[in-house]
Amino acid sequence: MNTMIEQKEDRAWVELDFNHLKHNVNELKKAMPEDCDLMAVVKAKAYGHGAFEVATHLNRLGVKAFAVATIDEGIELRRYGIHGEILILGFTSPDRAKELYKYDLIQTLICYNYALQLNKQGYAIKAHIKIDTGMHRLGFDNNDVEAIKKAFTMKQISICGIYTHLSVSDSLAKEDVCFSQLQIQRFYDLLEGLEKEGIEIPKTHIQSSYGLLNYPELKCNYVRAGISLYGALDSSTNKTRLQLDLRPVLSLKSRVVLLRQVKSGDSVGYGRSFIARRDSNIAILSIGYGDGVPRNLSGGNSNVIINGQRAPIIGQICMDQLIVDVTDIDHVSTGNIATLIGKDGNEEILATFVASEAKSIPNELLSRIGSRVK
Ligand SMILES: *Cc1c(COP(=O)(O)O)cnc(C)c1O
Repeated sequence: MNTMIEQKEDRAWVELDFNHLKHNVNELKKAMPEDCDLMAVVKAKAYGHGAFEVATHLNRLGVKAFAVATIDEGIELRRYGIHGEILILGFTSPDRAKELYKYDLIQTLICYNYALQLNKQGYAIKAHIKIDTGMHRLGFDNNDVEAIKKAFTMKQISICGIYTHLSVSDSLAKEDVCFSQLQIQRFYDLLEGLEKEGIEIPKTHIQSSYGLLNYPELKCNYVRAGISLYGALDSSTNKTRLQLDLRPVLSLKSRVVLLRQVKSGDSVGYGRSFIARRDSNIAILSIGYGDGVPRNLSGGNSNVIINGQRAPIIGQICMDQLIVDVTDIDHVSTGNIATLIGKDGNEEILATFVASEAKSIPNELLSRIGSRVK
């Protein structure tokens, strides 16, 4: 079958299930209030999925609002021909104001001084003002109403959105729910105050993925959905109030490039950390931690799937390769596909399980998929 391996699939690659992406968009939209729009978070190469592929597809599905972390990610989307709003969630150096203007990007105002500097650059800038309601990362202090009001009057800055970010929206523990409610209350109190001062409230947003799933009753103009869009929620967090049928979009695959036999007692790989307990057949795969496979999966209980059967990862994961035990798998040959994340036959490995094996979360695992992975 694989006599002619496509060049992009010769080593390590990602496959995207656009039906699942579409399904997730619809599930999220169903969960959102009537006049709320989905803002698709496509930072960090769309969480390792590929910004071009994901954003282009979302555009086709009618998604018209995107969020990225950096100005360069925003410019990239414009160069790909993405239309609609693109919000930069992070800091952009004010001396790049011209590019914000040129590429029609919306900049987050991270504090009052930053807004002042941006206003001085001589370009008409669209912005969303970020409010710090307790996360203490970016944003104007929610109590600093004077500064927030002043930002609304800056000549070169047109504020078309106002938002905040919740720090524990994924948790339903009592004190965490209290804190989230406090953050939400602070945000709405501020909006009320601004309105009383005669400020017209622009588009509002609070929820990221878990914000929507645990506080679906909030009525905002946008939900900033990242990990839920990709169907890779963290299974180790508590159940969410809203349960959606979200499906994984990404599979991570590699190939068997070499098969060899080792004798009982032989060591395999760096550090000789794996010693064969029986005569074994092992397979070398062309993917490693340089491609985003966490090195600390070494020596654990992690598997890959080959021909619909699980093969344990053995020894130390290398930068460019890793080794699996295929003694118990039938008919393995070089060129066979190994699935590190995804489904093959009746077996499936979810990103969330790989992430938890690596003591991390799916967001980190996926966003670290390397640039060599096609
Ligand atoms: C990354 C990010 C999101 C998306 O979060 P998910 O949990 O992946 O949905 C939303 N808002 C901000 C400010 C972010 O930085």
